[in-house]
Amino acid sequence: MNKTILVTGGAGYIGSHTCKALAARGYTPVTLDNLSNGHEWAVKWGPLVKGDTGDRALLDDVFARYRPSGVIHFAAFIEVGVSVREPGSFYRNNACSTLNVLEAMRAHGCERFVFSSTAAVYGTPRQVPITEDHPQWPINPYGWSKFMVERMLEDFGRAHGTRFCALRYFNAAGADPEGEIGEAHDPESHLIPLVLRAAKDPARSISIFGTDYDTPDGTCVRDYIHVCDLADAHIRALQFLEDHGPAAVNLGTGAGNSVKEIIDAARAVTGLPIEPVIGPRRPGDPARLVADRALAGELLGWTPQHLDIRETIAHAWAWMNR
Ligand code: UDP
Repeated sequence: MNKTILVTGGAGYIGSHTCKALAARGYTPVTLDNLSNGHEWAVKWGPLVKGDTGDRALLDDVFARYRPSGVIHFAAFIEVGVSVREPGSFYRNNACSTLNVLEAMRAHGCERFVFSSTAAVYGTPRQVPITEDHPQWPINPYGWSKFMVERMLEDFGRAHGTRFCALRYFNAAGADPEGEIGEAHDPESHLIPLVLRAAKDPARSISIFGTDYDTPDGTCVRDYIHVCDLADAHIRALQFLEDHGPAAVNLGTGAGNSVKEIIDAARAVTGLPIEPVIGPRRPGDPARLVADRALAGELLGWTPQHLDIRETIAHAWAWMNR
């Protein structure tokens, strides 16, 4: 099997960490990214094609030129709040453009597809930890757009033999321990970078979105998984698809941290005081989201290596201060 892999969205946060991991294992990642959210500086381990997954002629050129043996598909919009205000752009970019990629793969005889899915496909959990057979009923257009792609994949698998592995991420966190790449969203909406920004610049405050949840300290619990562990899972998924599939697996640590615990850990890592403001709940936030990760262990042989939240936050802090 040739070792050229098309990575859509390879200039983004999880995409760039996956490209680094691919190169370390002897693959050549070819990044296709329109740089709407990704960064040219983050593409260091293979060629960059600037363009959009919605452009079928461009996809045909890329498949003909590089002949990838698999696709890892990250390119997508990710901001839940924006998806509520602008659902059309999410359905077009996340669902329709993925259909484009799948059709181009089919036309070019490329059969392995690793998909960047999300815990948002489950919606409000009925029980935690969440297993993959938990009912799926997303609560926002972002989650629905990913849900729709998972349905497309099942049908393409049945009809055309497309081999896919959907990876349902919990909360991606941290940065490359070697400091080459890290998280750089604009605007930033994720908890850990916002807490670290507030540590660095006391003029910026950090709000805790609700302290009256049914959790031990009243703040929401999330499963923060190190971005390098996510990257590793993508490579394992590619290898898995050489002779298995389809599959859909959760990627999380299986442990949860509350918002207050994250802030405490950030104080310990930075040595700086962080004074959060208590705010109201953010609509749509479930109290607890924690992965059951047994299936990823069983199918992919994946075990996360970075289980200490302070280490994960320290990597993010080092990246922010690079
Ligand atoms: N959160 C918060 N203040 C912020 C941003 C996030 O209290 O400024 C909380 C949010 O309510 C959630 C957790 O931190 O419980 C993680 O939020 P994030 O947006 O990072 O990821 P999500 O869980 O929404 O994917």
